[in-house]
Amino acid sequence: QRELLQQLKGKEDVTLDGKKIRLYANIGSVGDVARVLANDAGGIGLFRSEFLYLEKDTFPTEEEQFQAYRTVAETMAGKKVIIRTLDIGADKQADYFHLAHEENPAMGYRAIRICLDQPEIFKTQLRALLRASAFGNIGIMFPMIISVKEVQQAKQYVAEIKAELDEKGIPYGDVELGVMIETPAAVIISEQLAKEVDFFSIGTNDLTQYTLAIDRQNAKLDNIYDSHHPAVLEMIRMTVENGHKGGCWVGICGELGADITLTETFLKMGVDELSVTPGSVLPIREIIRNTSVK
Ligand code: PEP
Ligand code: MG
Repeated sequence: QRELLQQLKGKEDVTLDGKKIRLYANIGSVGDVARVLANDAGGIGLFRSEFLYLEKDTFPTEEEQFQAYRTVAETMAGKKVIIRTLDIGADKQADYFHLAHEENPAMGYRAIRICLDQPEIFKTQLRALLRASAFGNIGIMFPMIISVKEVQQAKQYVAEIKAELDEKGIPYGDVELGVMIETPAAVIISEQLAKEVDFFSIGTNDLTQYTLAIDRQNAKLDNIYDSHHPAVLEMIRMTVENGHKGGCWVGICGELGADITLTETFLKMGVDELSVTPGSVLPIREIIRNTSVK
């Protein structure tokens, strides 16, 4: 079995009827890139940038972030590297953020909400990301989006930093922008969101949590935390349809994207990208190459 999978290295991620799929990998630190390459993923679909913040006892500087993003972009040598902006709060806490105790942290002050509320933190990260984009094929995506306004504000900061870099003559690359679809609100307004960005990446871990109103951290509810729930699958289908209407490509970067019992379903829904843990890349390549999307 392992031998057979090894033979899939270097092969294209294309369905029997010729649709090319982006089969990418998820990483949580620079050190994970080796596993991405070892498993021959076509790119990185989710780089959880939080690690840069969580492993330290103060804010990572622009330079530290730049070096990390640049290293990943360069190591991937032109393959797509999608970096998610800071998704801190709720289950991911760092003392120096001085986040107040909350009754409902999953529904609280977190992710893009913090970034838009404390733009200096956000702008430092965006500057590091844009500078690193000159060294590879970087995409930027925003987590926990619930409104068009948030996306427009985030894009405004990106434009501001680009203008600043232009003025200083600092280069940056062509960066695709995307939003994570991980709230029911984002799904419902996905047709409008699609007009604002280049791609969607569905975060099924949070989308399941918020669709079913089940805390993803509550072990007592593990037996009913069900990403196969028809409501979750319908949310995914809607997102793909609306994303395509608005000209976006649509991927899945939550754990469900690696569920091989659903790969065919996702491909038939029109999903363009699956971003999975590196060890799942080759098993999913095998399925993609034996499936027709029609
Ligand atoms: C998700 O919510 O599915 C996701 C990919 O983000 P995280 O698991 O980091 O919240
Ligand atoms: Mg999430």
